[in-house]
Amino acid sequence: MTTNILIVEDEPAIQEMITYSLQNAGYNVLQADKAEQALSMIKNKLPDLILLDWMLPGMNGIEFAKILRSDLRTKLIPIIMLTARAEEADKVKGLEVGADDYVTKPFSPRELIARIKAVLRRRSPELSGEKIEINGLCVDPAIHAVSVNGQEIALGPTEYRLLHFMMSHADRVYSRSQLLDKVWGDHVFIEERTVDVHIRRLRKVLKTVEKDQLLQTVRGAGYRFSLSKSNS
Ligand code: CA
Repeated sequence: MTTNILIVEDEPAIQEMITYSLQNAGYNVLQADKAEQALSMIKNKLPDLILLDWMLPGMNGIEFAKILRSDLRTKLIPIIMLTARAEEADKVKGLEVGADDYVTKPFSPRELIARIKAVLRRRSPELSGEKIEINGLCVDPAIHAVSVNGQEIALGPTEYRLLHFMMSHADRVYSRSQLLDKVWGDHVFIEERTVDVHIRRLRKVLKTVEKDQLLQTVRGAGYRFSLSKSNS
């Protein structure tokens, strides 16, 4: 799965430099030179992370971050602020509006990429490509396989994505609409009970290896992948 990063930066030289480094690191890059342009791009597609310049013509980065954080659809997008302002008070302001990290110009591409990776690991572990093992159940995104004690189990593509997402965010409860957004993709108009259908299919397969009790229904809230079996 390719990670989409939106760069909102009005200085062409910096925009170019970041784009080049991110593409080299395997990211898919989207570019905007104004917050207003970025907003309309986001309406079409949610990026996985935003690199946001503070000083922009028109709406500035802080106002833009506030708008993103106040909208249910965009509030969870990780944001890294880019800025020439190095003062403590500014940094605090950036973090207060909900930025996940803060990089001061000039920065090296290596530093930026390290920060991006750290933020994505924390906020979107399903994008990291790392193997996850919980209670003997193992998902390995590198080979797109699920196994129990080394024995591979067969899952449909949607059940695989659903399991991978839920194991990446174990012990957190996700509503049906959040799962639709995260697993099926943003802007996909599917009925919420589709989620139940796939959860049922996933449970059926997990039951054959006695792991179905890890995938729990939380009444009135949604679903959770539990870190402990005994929990209900
Ligand atoms: Ca600027």
